[in-house]
Amino acid sequence: MDASLVIRGQRVVTPGGTRPAAIHIEGGRIVRVGQHDDPTGVDGRVLDAGDLVVMPGLVDTHVHVNEPGRTDWEGFETATRAAAAGGVTTLLDMPLNSVPATTSAAALRAKIAAARGKTWVDVGFIGGVVPGNAASLGRLAREGVLAFKCFLVPSGVPEFEGVKTEDLHQAMPVIAELGLPLMVHAELPDVIEAATLDATAGDPTKYATYRASRPPSSEHEAIALVTRLAEVTAAHVHIVHVSSAASATMIAAARRRGVHISGESCPHYLHFEADQIPDGATEYKCAPPIRGADDRDGLWASLVAGDLAMIVSDHSPCPPIMKRRDAGDFFVAWGGIASLQLGASVVWTGMRTRHLPIERLSEWMSAAPAGLVRLGERKGRIAAGYDADLVLFDPDGELTVRAGELLHRHPVTPYLGARLRGTVEATYVRGTLAFDRRTGPAATPTGQLLLPPDS
Ligand SMILES: [Zn+2]
Repeated sequence: MDASLVIRGQRVVTPGGTRPAAIHIEGGRIVRVGQHDDPTGVDGRVLDAGDLVVMPGLVDTHVHVNEPGRTDWEGFETATRAAAAGGVTTLLDMPLNSVPATTSAAALRAKIAAARGKTWVDVGFIGGVVPGNAASLGRLAREGVLAFKCFLVPSGVPEFEGVKTEDLHQAMPVIAELGLPLMVHAELPDVIEAATLDATAGDPTKYATYRASRPPSSEHEAIALVTRLAEVTAAHVHIVHVSSAASATMIAAARRRGVHISGESCPHYLHFEADQIPDGATEYKCAPPIRGADDRDGLWASLVAGDLAMIVSDHSPCPPIMKRRDAGDFFVAWGGIASLQLGASVVWTGMRTRHLPIERLSEWMSAAPAGLVRLGERKGRIAAGYDADLVLFDPDGELTVRAGELLHRHPVTPYLGARLRGTVEATYVRGTLAFDRRTGPAATPTGQLLLPPDS
């Protein structure tokens, strides 16, 4: 680690606005954000970012790393190198798709053992809520999980069961007591089962058929259900991957009534529109599905209005064969979109066309997700006392997504060939260079695990 470093630039994104500044870093931490022409110490290194934007590293609270157990899908080394290349300096690993799923303290320890020393960015963990494990939640929290996650529908893997209302009645008071957020995959099975029956008559290689099988009403009814439970139990409920603009409105209305509820959306819901998805293009499959242009534009409006607070990736890769591109059948393909390396560019591309300022990207992709998982006093801002997690970003840079440049395990993503604006030029994790666009990821892992001090 560099003992002492100053990064100065003309466009530093600070909580008070974007301005010329010098960031003084000692021992991996920002000690002071001073004037651009501040004198620097005699023995410190100085890096001039020039006209590049210097912004806080992204905090991605929704990543499926899948290790241990499904390391052929993804893993800590590949995922965190992709993260560093995408300007993500902190990620939280979801509790499912790894084996074991992180639903007990023993499973969390297996996850920690698999991750330690293999991460290029800082990594925290999320615990799973499944039927019958309410008694394990306290121990998971004490051993370091920063949030919990549950599904109201089948998750896609057998070892991570969806919960029913009675399970949430047991788990949510415990979670409220622990003071951690409960991330909820909000779709209801009854609505999907009925819609899927109707959809089976349709062509399974048409995206419209798949989309019709998971209607927005499924998301809306699920949000209504967990809102009621949040009211009764006082737990903080966080709705993951909001796909429908009306859902964002529901979340905001509940929050105004005093319910502790928040929501996120993901780059794919903000970038793509359903009508443009080609037949058989299963790399676009995710749940809930990408919806129409009205929802996409409505989600942007919700972010601008503050109804939705954040954007995270829901990076969820799998081996290419599981996408079943040969058959092109949306109903048998694995659902999940890989985008960890591309989020900043995808979102910035959408922001440019909507004339939104770069500060909002930092708010949605750094400060807000850090705050969600109680890292808001350490991550997500360029200010004294914060970790020196920084991204040098060229907002005018152009990028065409090519498989050979993607660092996650299998370069399958619906963004292949996409032309995006905004390039990550360099990423610093606690003051250490983790990625440089000219030379790639650092030779050795630069990340730490975000765990209690004694572990
Ligand atoms: Zn997910």
